[in-house]
Amino acid sequence: MYNLEVNKNVQVAERLVKDNGAIIIKFNWQRSPSTEEELYQLETLSHELTLVNLRDVEDSWTWSHDASGIFSVSSLRRQLQRVESLNEAAGFVWNNWAPIKVNFLAWRIIIGRVPCMAALRRRHVTLDSYICKFCDDQEESVEHLFVGCQFALAVWDFIAEWCRCPRMFAFGIKDVMYYHLNTRGTHKWKKMIHLIILVAFWGIWRCRNELIFKNKEPNLDGVKQDIRNSSYLWFKNRAKRQEVTWLQWCNMEVSAMRL
Ligand SMILES: [Zn+2]
Repeated sequence: MYNLEVNKNVQVAERLVKDNGAIIIKFNWQRSPSTEEELYQLETLSHELTLVNLRDVEDSWTWSHDASGIFSVSSLRRQLQRVESLNEAAGFVWNNWAPIKVNFLAWRIIIGRVPCMAALRRRHVTLDSYICKFCDDQEESVEHLFVGCQFALAVWDFIAEWCRCPRMFAFGIKDVMYYHLNTRGTHKWKKMIHLIILVAFWGIWRCRNELIFKNKEPNLDGVKQDIRNSSYLWFKNRAKRQEVTWLQWCNMEVSAMRL
């Protein structure tokens, strides 16, 4: 989708080529990225590259968070406060029962920085299609991919049923991301539901990437199983609930979970 070209012998200096306002990225791979981690990093990198504005001047270092271009501690402090207030505005809550990569994806989703098709189109990245590959029906926006698409809806229904929570009626990302706050239970129960939701975001995103980059048919049952497996592993180890058995987890036996 990003014009990934393998080029063993030729060294080409221009890796970002502008064509009629569209940015084409030429990586000239020695070896095409193929593992899930590599593909995820490539997609994230590609998205970041599309945010860069190139000008025809000599390279130099500047501090972009101050109009003068010069670094100062006070401008750094202002920037940190701004990021903090952005997080607060988005209501993002870090969940230390989930790994950093899972939290990070959730954070990117909530602030709208996931390189889905609609985001790439807005950045003038040329793709064959901007339609969601799960349903082949609507443009793949963040809201569609994680909230409106039939595939996502089936995942959220599965979680509600498994955790015996009310069915999710979501109109936007935040309705899903903060669904746990409206469930009945203790703070730790809500944190566990939050963990499962974060893992589900991760699972949907992985499945979507495998479909796009590896042409791997989406397997809804596989995604559900992965969500149950990973959340069990992280709940046991990161929330330190080693005594919880797989069967108790699958049956969502709350009394066994010290919540
Ligand atoms: Zn869809």
